Amino acid sequence: MKEKKELLAQLDKVVKGCRNCRLWRTATNAVPGEGSVKATVMIIGEAPGFHEDKLARPFVGRAGVLLEELLAKVGLRREEVYITNVVKHRPPDNRGPNKDEIRACLPYLLRQIQIINPKIIVPLGRFALEVFIKDQPISKIHGQPFKVGERIVLPLYHPAAALRSSLVLQDLKQDFTRLPKALAGEIRPQVLEVKNKDENQLQLFK
Ligand code: URA
Repeated sequence: MKEKKELLAQLDKVVKGCRNCRLWRTATNAVPGEGSVKATVMIIGEAPGFHEDKLARPFVGRAGVLLEELLAKVGLRREEVYITNVVKHRPPDNRGPNKDEIRACLPYLLRQIQIINPKIIVPLGRFALEVFIKDQPISKIHGQPFKVGERIVLPLYHPAAALRSSLVLQDLKQDFTRLPKALAGEIRPQVLEVKNKDENQLQLFK
């Protein structure tokens, strides 16, 4: 475990000094991620927002409050899971991350997955989903666990979307109850045929 902590700390340092895309120029802080190195659940959001950028911590704004409530309902504290984002610097003006920014940041996410080695990955929203499962709208596959290599990927709506729509919130609450079941192997995950694995993504499927 000590080794995992050290590896993550080393990676955090690299992320903090990252200049591989334009986002560091407008961001206040890098937000590598946080949580337990022993986590079996890894939660992946889109990108740091205003509050995350200021505090250098993921999901500390309103979406984070909702995320913590949802985790608590299934008996998990945020300290027990690992929480990160697809991109580690805040995109300006609350825009979504661009394709080249996601590509530049992907090696960090893949390394985090490799170090933490979670049983289940929970992509929140379409940007995180796209990293694992291509060309499937979140509106169609939210709440459905997939077997991706040795891991389970459970795509969920993004909590920020749930704060804007009570229907999405209802779905998100419902889907969250599937997290412990998927973790316990009580829901059979769909096996994903992976096409066009690129160099980086290959590591996910080991
Ligand atoms: N939204 C995200 O996608 N990530 C955060 O860290 C906060 C809000």
